[in-house]
Amino acid sequence: MQPLTTLLDALHFAADQHRDQRRKDVGATPYINHCIALAELLVRVGQVDDPVVITAAILHDTVEDTTTTFEQLEARYGLEITAVVREVTDDKTLPKDVRKQLQVEHAAHASTRAKLVKLADKICNVEDVITSPPADWPLERRREYLTWSGKVVDGCRGTNAALEARFDVLFAEGMAQFAA
Ligand code: NDP
Ligand code: ZN
Repeated sequence: MQPLTTLLDALHFAADQHRDQRRKDVGATPYINHCIALAELLVRVGQVDDPVVITAAILHDTVEDTTTTFEQLEARYGLEITAVVREVTDDKTLPKDVRKQLQVEHAAHASTRAKLVKLADKICNVEDVITSPPADWPLERRREYLTWSGKVVDGCRGTNAALEARFDVLFAEGMAQFAA
């Protein structure tokens, strides 16, 4: 498949896999909007033009949050894209606090492509926590989320200056807002 065909196929596939899921904001945004947000941020802010990264961003939560398997992704999208998705997928058999700690420890050892997807995921989630947070999160929990995201992003630094700067602006904005 041509890269653009693959990208659109992945968008179609991810939309279908996430079809019954919503984000945690009050408006219950369709889940796929988050996947599109990562891709758009990578292209617009990060100036990323590697179709493997953009396609992996679209697919980044399919294995973690739906019935999709890595075998399915490999058969449909090949080893390169699947390898990036694998790197950004948490092992859901582990307790949540362990998974979160492993994200911090693994970030610095990830491939450049996986670091780009991780950066985009953290930026989009922090942006969501600021503008459309999970309905029941008090300020302290939002602060904690930003602090944890900052630790993961620290492991990804030196990968894309524009994305890292975007995170830093949001982080400062969020911390100022949540301190109130
Ligand atoms: P969650 O992992 O439960 O929720 C955050 C994740 O939800 C994001 O990483 C994102 O993941 C997804 N998400 C969906 N919608 C939104 C949205 N609108 N805004 C932001 N993210 C969204 O929460 P935590 O990160 O806080 O992790 C849970 C941890 O917090 C546990 O370790 C637990 O022990 C602890 N905890 C803390 C509490 C507190 O009050 N401090 C209370 C309860 C638990 P993705 O991009 O993958 O979809
Ligand atoms: Zn995500």
